[in-house]
Amino acid sequence: MTVRAPGSPPGLIGLADGSPARTAERTPHLRFRIETWGCQMNVHDSEKMAAALGSLGCRPAEAESAEVVVLNTCSVREKAQEKVFARVEQLVGRGRERPRLIGVAGCVAQQEGEAIFGRAPAVDFVLGTQSLVCLPDVVRRLLAGESRIVEIGRHPDNLDIPPEQIDRIPGVKAYITIMEGCDNFCSFCVVPFTRGRERCRTVSSIVREAESLAASGFREIQLLGQNVNSYRDPEGGGGFAELTDAVGAVAGIRRIRFTSPHPKDFSEALMERFAAGGPLMPHMHLPAQSGSTSVLERMRRGYSRDKFLQLVRRAREKAPELALSTDLIVGFCGETRREFEDTLTLLDEVRFSSVYSFKYSERPHTLASKRLPDDVPDPEKTQRLIELQARQREIQLALHRDLVGRRVEVLVEGPSRKGGQLAGRGPDNRIVNFEGPTDATGSFGEVEITGFGPNSLLGKLLHSPKPRRSGGESAASSTRWSAPGSEILLPVVQATAADGVQEARAAG
Ligand code: SF4
Repeated sequence: MTVRAPGSPPGLIGLADGSPARTAERTPHLRFRIETWGCQMNVHDSEKMAAALGSLGCRPAEAESAEVVVLNTCSVREKAQEKVFARVEQLVGRGRERPRLIGVAGCVAQQEGEAIFGRAPAVDFVLGTQSLVCLPDVVRRLLAGESRIVEIGRHPDNLDIPPEQIDRIPGVKAYITIMEGCDNFCSFCVVPFTRGRERCRTVSSIVREAESLAASGFREIQLLGQNVNSYRDPEGGGGFAELTDAVGAVAGIRRIRFTSPHPKDFSEALMERFAAGGPLMPHMHLPAQSGSTSVLERMRRGYSRDKFLQLVRRAREKAPELALSTDLIVGFCGETRREFEDTLTLLDEVRFSSVYSFKYSERPHTLASKRLPDDVPDPEKTQRLIELQARQREIQLALHRDLVGRRVEVLVEGPSRKGGQLAGRGPDNRIVNFEGPTDATGSFGEVEITGFGPNSLLGKLLHSPKPRRSGGESAASSTRWSAPGSEILLPVVQATAADGVQEARAAG
Protein backbone atom coordinates (compact mmCIF):
# COMPACT_ATOMS: atom_id res chain seq x y z
CA MET A 1 0.00 0.00 0.00
CA THR A 2 1.27 3.47 -0.78
CA VAL A 3 0.14 6.74 0.73
CA ARG A 4 1.22 10.30 0.19
CA ALA A 5 4.11 11.03 2.50
CA PRO A 6 3.29 13.61 5.14
CA GLY A 7 4.07 17.02 3.81
CA SER A 8 5.11 15.74 0.42
CA PRO A 9 3.92 17.74 -2.56
CA PRO A 10 1.23 16.40 -4.87
CA GLY A 11 2.57 13.85 -7.26
CA LEU A 12 5.07 12.41 -4.82
CA ILE A 13 3.94 9.17 -3.33
CA GLY A 14 5.47 8.02 -0.07
CA LEU A 15 5.51 4.66 1.62
CA ALA A 16 2.95 3.59 4.25
CA ASP A 17 5.55 3.99 6.98
CA GLY A 18 5.87 7.63 6.08
CA SER A 19 9.43 7.25 4.82
CA PRO A 20 10.50 9.83 2.28
CA ALA A 21 8.87 9.57 -1.10
CA ARG A 22 10.98 7.75 -3.63
CA THR A 23 8.32 6.69 -6.06
CA ALA A 24 6.46 8.76 -8.59
CA GLU A 25 4.75 8.69 -11.95
CA ARG A 26 5.57 12.34 -12.47
CA THR A 27 7.82 14.39 -10.24
CA PRO A 28 6.50 17.93 -10.64
CA HIS A 29 8.29 19.35 -7.67
CA LEU A 30 11.66 17.74 -8.04
CA ARG A 31 14.23 20.41 -8.68
CA PHE A 32 17.23 19.60 -10.81
CA ARG A 33 20.61 20.95 -11.68
CA ILE A 34 22.98 19.85 -14.39
CA GLU A 35 26.65 20.71 -14.13
CA THR A 36 28.65 20.36 -17.29
CA TRP A 37 32.35 19.96 -17.95
CA GLY A 38 34.06 19.86 -21.30
CA CYS A 39 33.10 20.39 -24.88
CA GLN A 40 30.16 21.73 -26.88
CA MET A 41 28.93 18.19 -27.36
CA ASN A 42 28.61 17.86 -23.59
CA VAL A 43 26.85 21.21 -23.32
CA HIS A 44 24.40 20.06 -25.95
CA ASP A 45 23.93 16.70 -24.19
CA SER A 46 23.05 18.66 -21.06
CA GLU A 47 20.37 20.49 -23.02
CA LYS A 48 18.93 17.09 -23.94
CA MET A 49 19.04 15.87 -20.35
CA ALA A 50 17.37 19.07 -19.12
CA ALA A 51 14.47 18.39 -21.46
CA ALA A 52 14.32 14.75 -20.37
CA LEU A 53 14.03 15.82 -16.73
CA GLY A 54 11.51 18.48 -17.72
CA SER A 55 9.42 15.75 -19.33
CA LEU A 56 9.09 14.19 -15.88
CA GLY A 57 7.83 17.46 -14.46
CA CYS A 58 11.15 18.36 -12.83
CA ARG A 59 12.21 21.97 -12.92
CA PRO A 60 15.56 23.72 -12.76
CA ALA A 61 16.89 25.03 -9.48
CA GLU A 62 19.75 26.66 -7.64
CA ALA A 63 22.61 24.44 -6.51
CA GLU A 64 21.57 24.52 -2.86
CA SER A 65 18.00 23.42 -3.48
CA ALA A 66 18.45 20.89 -6.28
CA GLU A 67 17.13 17.44 -5.47
CA VAL A 68 18.45 15.79 -8.62
CA VAL A 69 22.01 16.70 -9.55
CA VAL A 70 23.53 15.40 -12.76
CA LEU A 71 27.25 15.85 -13.34
CA ASN A 72 27.90 15.73 -17.06
CA THR A 73 31.54 14.87 -17.26
CA CYS A 74 34.59 15.09 -19.49
CA SER A 75 37.37 12.53 -19.44
CA VAL A 76 39.78 13.82 -22.05
CA ARG A 77 42.09 14.94 -19.28
CA GLU A 78 42.72 13.33 -15.97
CA LYS A 79 42.26 16.61 -14.08
CA ALA A 80 38.77 17.10 -15.48
CA GLN A 81 37.86 13.56 -14.48
CA GLU A 82 39.09 14.00 -10.91
CA LYS A 83 37.03 17.15 -10.48
CA VAL A 84 33.88 15.10 -10.80
CA PHE A 85 34.70 12.96 -7.79
CA ALA A 86 35.61 16.04 -5.79
CA ARG A 87 32.25 17.53 -6.72
CA VAL A 88 30.37 14.43 -5.52
CA GLU A 89 32.15 14.73 -2.18
CA GLN A 90 31.10 18.36 -1.95
CA LEU A 91 27.50 17.45 -2.65
CA VAL A 92 27.36 14.99 0.23
CA GLY A 93 29.73 16.91 2.50
CA ARG A 94 29.05 17.34 6.15
CA GLY A 95 26.72 20.09 7.23
CA ARG A 96 24.48 19.94 4.22
CA GLU A 97 21.57 17.85 3.10
CA ARG A 98 22.57 15.71 0.16
CA PRO A 99 20.48 15.80 -3.03
CA ARG A 100 18.04 12.93 -3.32
CA LEU A 101 19.63 11.71 -6.52
CA ILE A 102 23.14 12.22 -7.79
CA GLY A 103 23.98 11.06 -11.31
CA VAL A 104 27.22 10.95 -13.25
CA ALA A 105 26.73 11.26 -17.00
CA GLY A 106 28.98 11.85 -19.99
CA CYS A 107 32.40 10.54 -20.85
CA VAL A 108 33.57 9.57 -17.35
CA ALA A 109 30.32 7.64 -16.92
CA GLN A 110 30.84 5.83 -20.21
CA GLN A 111 34.47 5.09 -19.46
CA GLU A 112 34.19 4.01 -15.82
CA GLY A 113 30.67 2.51 -15.66
CA GLU A 114 29.93 0.68 -12.44
CA ALA A 115 33.40 1.43 -11.05
CA ILE A 116 32.13 4.94 -10.28
CA PHE A 117 30.17 3.54 -7.33
CA GLY A 118 33.45 2.27 -5.87
CA ARG A 119 35.06 5.72 -6.01
CA ALA A 120 31.91 7.65 -5.13
CA PRO A 121 29.38 5.53 -3.19
CA ALA A 122 26.95 8.46 -2.96
CA VAL A 123 26.28 8.32 -6.70
CA ASP A 124 22.84 6.91 -7.57
CA PHE A 125 23.15 6.47 -11.30
CA VAL A 126 25.64 6.37 -14.11
CA LEU A 127 24.48 7.42 -17.56
CA GLY A 128 26.68 6.91 -20.61
CA THR A 129 27.04 9.18 -23.62
CA GLN A 130 24.80 7.00 -25.77
CA SER A 131 22.11 6.47 -23.13
CA LEU A 132 20.73 9.97 -22.56
CA VAL A 133 17.31 8.82 -23.71
CA CYS A 134 17.19 6.49 -20.69
CA LEU A 135 17.33 9.34 -18.17
CA PRO A 136 13.57 9.62 -17.46
CA ASP A 137 13.31 5.88 -16.96
CA VAL A 138 16.39 5.81 -14.71
CA VAL A 139 14.97 8.57 -12.50
CA ARG A 140 11.59 6.85 -12.31
CA ARG A 141 13.18 3.56 -11.30
CA LEU A 142 15.30 5.20 -8.62
CA LEU A 143 12.29 7.00 -7.22
CA ALA A 144 10.47 3.68 -7.22
CA GLY A 145 13.12 2.24 -4.94
CA GLU A 146 15.82 0.80 -7.16
CA SER A 147 19.36 1.74 -6.39
CA ARG A 148 22.61 2.18 -8.25
CA ILE A 149 21.55 2.06 -11.88
CA VAL A 150 24.11 1.93 -14.67
CA GLU A 151 23.04 2.71 -18.25
CA ILE A 152 25.98 2.76 -20.61
CA GLY A 153 24.58 0.76 -23.51
CA ARG A 154 24.18 1.98 -27.07
CA HIS A 155 20.75 3.38 -27.83
CA PRO A 156 20.49 4.25 -31.52
CA ASP A 157 17.69 6.79 -30.94
CA ASN A 158 20.10 8.74 -28.74
CA LEU A 159 21.62 10.32 -31.85
CA ASP A 160 18.39 11.64 -33.30
CA ILE A 161 16.54 13.24 -30.41
CA PRO A 162 13.70 15.40 -31.81
CA PRO A 163 14.25 19.17 -31.46
CA GLU A 164 11.20 19.61 -29.25
CA GLN A 165 12.85 17.25 -26.76
CA ILE A 166 15.91 19.48 -26.34
CA ASP A 167 15.80 22.28 -23.78
CA ARG A 168 18.26 24.73 -25.30
CA ILE A 169 20.17 27.34 -23.39
CA PRO A 170 18.68 30.71 -24.32
CA GLY A 171 20.82 32.62 -26.75
CA VAL A 172 21.34 33.37 -30.37
CA LYS A 173 23.16 30.24 -31.43
CA ALA A 174 22.19 26.64 -31.15
CA TYR A 175 24.00 23.35 -31.51
CA ILE A 176 22.96 20.51 -33.78
CA THR A 177 24.63 17.13 -33.44
CA ILE A 178 25.24 15.84 -36.96
CA MET A 179 27.30 12.81 -36.06
CA GLU A 180 28.81 11.16 -33.05
CA GLY A 181 31.84 9.04 -32.39
CA CYS A 182 35.15 8.72 -34.17
CA ASP A 183 36.91 6.00 -36.12
CA ASN A 184 40.34 7.59 -36.08
CA PHE A 185 41.86 6.33 -32.84
CA CYS A 186 44.56 8.95 -32.52
CA SER A 187 46.98 7.44 -30.05
CA PHE A 188 46.34 9.98 -27.25
CA CYS A 189 42.58 10.24 -27.51
CA VAL A 190 39.92 8.62 -25.37
CA VAL A 191 36.99 9.83 -27.51
CA PRO A 192 36.53 6.66 -29.61
CA PHE A 193 36.21 4.76 -26.32
CA THR A 194 33.74 7.16 -24.72
CA ARG A 195 31.71 8.22 -27.77
CA GLY A 196 32.00 5.05 -29.82
CA ARG A 197 32.39 4.65 -33.58
CA GLU A 198 31.08 7.17 -36.10
CA ARG A 199 27.33 7.42 -36.59
CA CYS A 200 25.69 10.08 -38.75
CA ARG A 201 22.21 11.58 -38.80
CA THR A 202 20.40 12.06 -42.08
CA VAL A 203 20.44 15.43 -43.84
CA SER A 204 16.64 15.53 -43.76
CA SER A 205 16.54 15.14 -39.99
CA ILE A 206 19.27 17.76 -39.49
CA VAL A 207 17.47 20.23 -41.77
CA ARG A 208 14.21 19.69 -39.88
CA GLU A 209 16.00 20.56 -36.67
CA ALA A 210 17.55 23.67 -38.26
CA GLU A 211 14.09 24.79 -39.44
CA SER A 212 12.71 24.36 -35.97
CA LEU A 213 15.59 26.38 -34.51
CA ALA A 214 15.12 29.17 -37.05
CA ALA A 215 11.43 29.30 -36.16
CA SER A 216 12.42 29.64 -32.50
CA GLY A 217 14.57 32.67 -33.21
CA PHE A 218 18.05 31.17 -33.42
CA ARG A 219 20.20 32.81 -36.11
CA GLU A 220 23.41 30.82 -35.84
CA ILE A 221 23.81 27.07 -36.03
CA GLN A 222 26.86 25.16 -34.86
CA LEU A 223 27.13 21.72 -36.39
CA LEU A 224 28.72 19.34 -33.94
CA GLY A 225 30.57 16.10 -34.33
CA GLN A 226 33.88 14.57 -33.32
CA ASN A 227 35.03 14.50 -36.92
CA VAL A 228 32.49 16.51 -38.90
CA ASN A 229 34.15 16.35 -42.28
CA SER A 230 33.87 12.59 -42.39
CA TYR A 231 30.08 13.11 -42.28
CA ARG A 232 28.04 11.02 -44.77
CA ASP A 233 24.29 11.21 -45.15
CA PRO A 234 23.04 7.67 -44.40
CA GLU A 235 20.14 8.27 -46.82
CA GLY A 236 21.57 10.13 -49.78
CA GLY A 237 25.29 9.61 -49.33
CA GLY A 238 26.11 13.34 -49.55
CA GLY A 239 29.10 14.64 -47.64
CA PHE A 240 29.71 17.45 -45.19
CA ALA A 241 29.97 20.22 -47.80
CA GLU A 242 26.52 19.32 -49.15
CA LEU A 243 25.16 19.29 -45.61
CA THR A 244 26.33 22.88 -45.07
CA ASP A 245 24.47 23.83 -48.28
CA ALA A 246 21.28 22.24 -47.02
CA VAL A 247 21.45 23.89 -43.58
CA GLY A 248 22.48 27.21 -45.14
CA ALA A 249 19.33 27.14 -47.27
CA VAL A 250 17.06 27.16 -44.21
CA ALA A 251 15.26 30.50 -44.05
CA GLY A 252 16.27 32.54 -40.99
CA ILE A 253 19.65 30.88 -40.45
CA ARG A 254 22.24 33.57 -41.10
CA ARG A 255 25.38 31.90 -39.82
CA ILE A 256 26.77 28.38 -39.82
CA ARG A 257 29.82 27.19 -37.94
CA PHE A 258 31.06 23.70 -37.20
CA THR A 259 33.41 21.84 -34.95
CA SER A 260 35.60 19.97 -35.46
CA PRO A 261 37.03 18.89 -38.76
CA HIS A 262 40.05 16.62 -39.15
CA PRO A 263 42.86 17.98 -41.31
CA LYS A 264 43.32 14.67 -43.10
CA ASP A 265 39.67 14.57 -44.24
CA PHE A 266 39.46 18.10 -45.55
CA SER A 267 37.81 18.20 -48.97
CA GLU A 268 38.16 20.59 -51.87
CA ALA A 269 34.37 20.84 -51.85
CA LEU A 270 34.44 22.37 -48.36
CA MET A 271 37.15 24.83 -49.44
CA GLU A 272 34.82 25.92 -52.24
CA ARG A 273 32.05 26.58 -49.70
CA PHE A 274 34.36 28.84 -47.70
CA ALA A 275 35.38 30.61 -50.89
CA ALA A 276 31.74 31.18 -51.84
CA GLY A 277 30.95 32.96 -48.55
CA GLY A 278 27.28 32.78 -47.65
CA PRO A 279 26.18 31.55 -44.26
CA LEU A 280 29.30 29.43 -43.71
CA MET A 281 31.33 31.81 -41.55
CA PRO A 282 35.01 32.44 -42.31
CA HIS A 283 36.34 30.71 -39.23
CA MET A 284 37.37 27.16 -38.68
CA HIS A 285 38.70 25.28 -35.70
CA LEU A 286 41.28 22.97 -37.24
CA PRO A 287 43.06 20.88 -34.61
CA ALA A 288 46.78 20.55 -35.42
CA GLN A 289 47.80 18.92 -32.10
CA SER A 290 51.52 19.36 -32.87
CA GLY A 291 53.82 21.12 -35.32
CA SER A 292 56.29 18.25 -35.42
CA THR A 293 55.93 15.54 -38.06
CA SER A 294 57.54 12.92 -35.82
CA VAL A 295 55.17 13.73 -32.95
CA LEU A 296 52.21 13.68 -35.35
CA GLU A 297 53.31 10.20 -36.43
CA ARG A 298 53.39 9.01 -32.82
CA MET A 299 49.96 10.58 -32.36
CA ARG A 300 48.73 8.68 -35.45
CA ARG A 301 47.21 11.84 -36.87
CA GLY A 302 47.50 10.88 -40.52
CA TYR A 303 49.22 14.07 -41.75
CA SER A 304 52.62 15.70 -41.52
CA ARG A 305 53.52 19.27 -40.62
CA ASP A 306 53.98 20.00 -44.33
CA LYS A 307 50.58 18.58 -45.22
CA PHE A 308 48.95 20.67 -42.51
CA LEU A 309 50.67 23.81 -43.77
CA GLN A 310 49.70 23.01 -47.36
CA LEU A 311 46.10 22.72 -46.24
CA VAL A 312 46.27 26.07 -44.47
CA ARG A 313 47.83 27.73 -47.53
CA ARG A 314 45.22 26.25 -49.84
CA ALA A 315 42.36 27.30 -47.57
CA ARG A 316 43.68 30.84 -47.37
CA GLU A 317 44.15 31.06 -51.11
CA LYS A 318 40.50 30.17 -51.48
CA ALA A 319 39.21 32.25 -48.57
CA PRO A 320 41.74 34.94 -47.56
CA GLU A 321 39.60 36.09 -44.62
CA LEU A 322 39.47 32.63 -43.07
CA ALA A 323 40.44 32.70 -39.37
CA LEU A 324 41.85 29.46 -38.01
CA SER A 325 41.92 28.33 -34.41
CA THR A 326 43.43 25.09 -33.20
CA ASP A 327 44.20 22.60 -30.41
CA LEU A 328 47.79 21.87 -29.45
CA ILE A 329 49.25 19.36 -27.01
CA VAL A 330 52.62 19.90 -25.38
CA GLY A 331 54.73 17.22 -23.74
CA PHE A 332 53.33 14.29 -25.68
CA CYS A 333 55.22 11.01 -25.21
CA GLY A 334 58.88 11.45 -26.11
CA GLU A 335 58.49 15.08 -27.23
CA THR A 336 61.98 16.58 -27.44
CA ARG A 337 62.76 20.27 -27.13
CA ARG A 338 63.36 20.34 -30.88
CA GLU A 339 59.95 18.79 -31.57
CA PHE A 340 58.31 21.28 -29.25
CA GLU A 341 60.01 24.12 -31.11
CA ASP A 342 58.39 22.83 -34.29
CA THR A 343 55.07 23.55 -32.61
CA LEU A 344 56.22 27.06 -31.72
CA THR A 345 57.19 27.74 -35.32
CA LEU A 346 53.85 26.37 -36.48
CA LEU A 347 52.26 29.19 -34.49
CA ASP A 348 54.45 31.69 -36.31
CA GLU A 349 53.66 30.26 -39.72
CA VAL A 350 49.91 29.82 -39.37
CA ARG A 351 49.11 32.70 -36.99
CA PHE A 352 46.07 31.05 -35.49
CA SER A 353 43.29 33.31 -34.26
CA SER A 354 43.21 31.35 -31.00
CA VAL A 355 44.71 28.19 -29.56
CA TYR A 356 43.49 25.74 -26.96
CA SER A 357 46.67 24.29 -25.54
CA PHE A 358 47.08 21.45 -23.10
CA LYS A 359 49.68 19.41 -21.34
CA TYR A 360 49.54 15.81 -22.45
CA SER A 361 47.82 13.56 -19.96
CA GLU A 362 47.63 9.80 -20.37
CA ARG A 363 44.12 8.44 -20.81
CA PRO A 364 42.93 4.89 -20.27
CA HIS A 365 42.54 2.45 -23.20
CA THR A 366 44.47 4.63 -25.62
CA LEU A 367 47.32 3.32 -27.71
CA ALA A 368 49.68 5.84 -26.17
CA SER A 369 48.85 4.63 -22.67
CA LYS A 370 49.71 1.08 -23.72
CA ARG A 371 52.76 1.64 -25.88
CA LEU A 372 54.32 5.04 -25.33
CA PRO A 373 55.84 6.18 -22.03
CA ASP A 374 54.53 9.49 -20.70
CA ASP A 375 58.12 10.57 -20.17
CA VAL A 376 58.19 14.37 -20.40
CA PRO A 377 58.44 15.56 -16.78
CA ASP A 378 55.47 17.60 -15.64
CA PRO A 379 57.48 20.76 -14.84
CA GLU A 380 58.86 20.63 -18.38
CA LYS A 381 55.32 20.27 -19.79
CA THR A 382 54.24 23.28 -17.76
CA GLN A 383 57.20 25.30 -18.96
CA ARG A 384 56.42 24.45 -22.59
CA LEU A 385 52.77 25.32 -22.13
CA ILE A 386 53.68 28.72 -20.68
CA GLU A 387 56.10 29.35 -23.54
CA LEU A 388 53.56 28.37 -26.16
CA GLN A 389 50.81 30.47 -24.64
CA ALA A 390 53.09 33.51 -24.37
CA ARG A 391 54.03 33.19 -28.05
CA GLN A 392 50.39 32.80 -29.06
CA ARG A 393 49.40 35.81 -26.97
CA GLU A 394 51.81 37.99 -28.93
CA ILE A 395 50.41 36.66 -32.20
CA GLN A 396 46.83 37.36 -31.15
CA LEU A 397 47.74 40.88 -30.07
CA ALA A 398 49.39 41.52 -33.44
CA LEU A 399 46.42 40.08 -35.35
CA HIS A 400 43.99 42.17 -33.32
CA ARG A 401 46.07 45.32 -33.79
CA ASP A 402 45.70 44.86 -37.55
CA LEU A 403 41.93 44.78 -37.20
CA VAL A 404 41.63 48.27 -35.70
CA GLY A 405 39.62 50.50 -38.04
CA ARG A 406 37.86 47.56 -39.72
CA ARG A 407 34.08 47.36 -39.83
CA VAL A 408 32.50 44.05 -38.96
CA GLU A 409 29.01 42.70 -38.67
CA VAL A 410 28.43 41.31 -35.20
CA LEU A 411 25.71 39.05 -33.94
CA VAL A 412 24.93 40.36 -30.46
CA GLU A 413 25.08 37.58 -27.88
CA GLY A 414 24.18 39.61 -24.79
CA PRO A 415 25.88 41.62 -22.05
CA SER A 416 29.67 41.37 -22.06
CA ARG A 417 31.41 39.50 -19.27
CA LYS A 418 32.83 42.68 -17.82
CA GLY A 419 29.41 44.28 -17.71
CA GLY A 420 28.20 47.62 -18.98
CA GLN A 421 28.72 46.64 -22.60
CA LEU A 422 27.34 44.22 -25.15
CA ALA A 423 29.30 41.29 -26.54
CA GLY A 424 28.92 39.93 -30.02
CA ARG A 425 30.89 37.87 -32.45
CA GLY A 426 32.16 38.86 -35.84
CA PRO A 427 32.11 36.46 -38.77
CA ASP A 428 35.62 35.28 -37.78
CA ASN A 429 34.25 34.24 -34.36
CA ARG A 430 36.20 36.91 -32.49
CA ILE A 431 34.45 38.50 -29.54
CA VAL A 432 33.74 42.21 -29.90
CA ASN A 433 32.63 44.28 -26.89
CA PHE A 434 30.84 47.56 -27.49
CA GLU A 435 28.31 49.99 -26.05
CA GLY A 436 24.79 49.42 -27.31
CA PRO A 437 21.13 49.12 -26.45
CA THR A 438 20.46 46.49 -23.84
CA ASP A 439 17.64 44.88 -25.85
CA ALA A 440 19.89 44.17 -28.82
CA THR A 441 20.61 40.52 -28.02
CA GLY A 442 19.99 38.38 -31.06
CA SER A 443 20.38 41.28 -33.49
CA PHE A 444 23.02 42.02 -36.09
CA GLY A 445 24.87 45.31 -35.93
CA GLU A 446 27.81 46.97 -37.64
CA VAL A 447 30.75 47.80 -35.43
CA GLU A 448 34.05 49.57 -36.06
CA ILE A 449 37.00 48.02 -34.23
CA THR A 450 38.59 50.64 -31.97
CA GLY A 451 40.69 48.66 -29.52
CA PHE A 452 41.87 45.20 -28.59
CA GLY A 453 43.21 42.83 -26.00
CA PRO A 454 44.71 39.40 -26.53
CA ASN A 455 41.35 37.63 -26.40
CA SER A 456 38.77 40.14 -27.57
CA LEU A 457 38.20 43.32 -29.51
CA LEU A 458 36.65 46.61 -28.57
CA GLY A 459 34.28 48.29 -30.99
CA LYS A 460 32.03 51.25 -31.63
CA LEU A 461 28.52 50.64 -32.85
CA LEU A 462 27.95 52.33 -36.21
CA HIS A 463 24.39 51.29 -36.88
CA SER A 464 21.92 50.24 -34.27
CA PRO A 465 21.34 46.54 -34.35
CA LYS A 466 18.29 45.54 -36.31
CA PRO A 467 15.71 44.10 -33.98
CA ARG A 468 15.43 40.34 -33.90
CA ARG A 469 12.96 39.11 -36.49
CA SER A 470 9.84 37.75 -34.99
CA GLY A 471 9.44 34.07 -35.70
CA GLY A 472 7.98 31.91 -33.04
CA GLU A 473 9.31 31.89 -29.52
CA SER A 474 12.45 33.90 -29.14
CA ALA A 475 15.32 31.64 -28.25
CA ALA A 476 16.47 34.17 -25.71
CA SER A 477 13.12 34.24 -24.00
CA SER A 478 12.92 30.60 -23.03
CA THR A 479 11.84 30.41 -19.43
CA ARG A 480 12.91 26.90 -18.72
CA TRP A 481 16.49 27.96 -18.17
CA SER A 482 15.55 31.09 -16.28
CA ALA A 483 16.54 29.95 -12.81
CA PRO A 484 20.15 30.99 -12.38
CA GLY A 485 21.06 27.73 -10.73
CA SER A 486 19.83 25.74 -13.69
CA GLU A 487 22.33 27.22 -16.05
CA ILE A 488 24.67 24.73 -17.48
CA LEU A 489 27.86 25.27 -15.58
CA LEU A 490 31.08 25.33 -17.44
CA PRO A 491 33.81 25.21 -14.88
CA VAL A 492 37.04 26.26 -16.52
CA VAL A 493 38.76 22.99 -17.11
CA GLN A 494 41.80 22.06 -19.09
CA ALA A 495 39.33 20.41 -21.35
CA THR A 496 40.84 18.40 -24.06
CA ALA A 497 43.37 17.28 -26.46
CA ALA A 498 40.86 15.92 -28.88
CA ASP A 499 39.23 17.25 -31.99
CA GLY A 500 35.61 18.05 -31.55
CA VAL A 501 36.01 18.52 -27.87
CA GLN A 502 37.32 21.99 -27.31
CA GLU A 503 36.31 23.63 -24.17
CA ALA A 504 33.05 25.40 -24.78
CA ARG A 505 34.06 28.67 -23.20
CA ALA A 506 33.72 31.95 -24.97
CA ALA A 507 37.01 33.54 -25.75
CA GLY A 508 37.33 37.02 -24.48
S1 SF4 B 1 41.63 13.40 -31.62
FE1 SF4 B 1 39.78 13.72 -32.86
S2 SF4 B 1 40.11 12.48 -34.70
FE2 SF4 B 1 41.57 11.74 -33.16
S3 SF4 B 1 40.51 10.04 -32.15
FE3 SF4 B 1 40.09 11.90 -30.93
S4 SF4 B 1 38.14 12.68 -31.72
FE4 SF4 B 1 38.94 11.21 -33.24
